[in-house]
Amino acid sequence: MNWFKQFMAGRYGVDPLSIALLIAYLPVTLIAQLSNLKILNLLALAILFVSYFRIFSRNIPKRSQENQKFLLKWYPVKNWLTLKIYRIKDRKIHRYFKCPNCEQNVRVPKGKGKIRITCPKCKKSFVKRT
Ligand SMILES: [Zn+2]
Repeated sequence: MNWFKQFMAGRYGVDPLSIALLIAYLPVTLIAQLSNLKILNLLALAILFVSYFRIFSRNIPKRSQENQKFLLKWYPVKNWLTLKIYRIKDRKIHRYFKCPNCEQNVRVPKGKGKIRITCPKCKKSFVKRT
């Protein structure tokens, strides 16, 4: 294991972008194998190559910059996905409405019949069945 530590010294290593590339490689190579499309095989290899190139790269500032750009695009997607998953888990207990005035999302308990909801942001109220 010592040789590996020495080999990785001064190299960039694994970051979220490399992991995302490795994850993207899996479906692409699977589809390439199933469809027998050479271009997809090349794409899968290119993804794998870029990922390993980044991990073993010695140009740390450049790789870090690439990762920052990736994270700026990834975080909104991740937050959106996290919210959707949370709402799916929460759907038996709560209902979500959008305030007709300011578009603020409002969470209310489910099964309370027709209720008047007051928006926490703009204080306007609206009636919905929960
Ligand atoms: Zn509102």
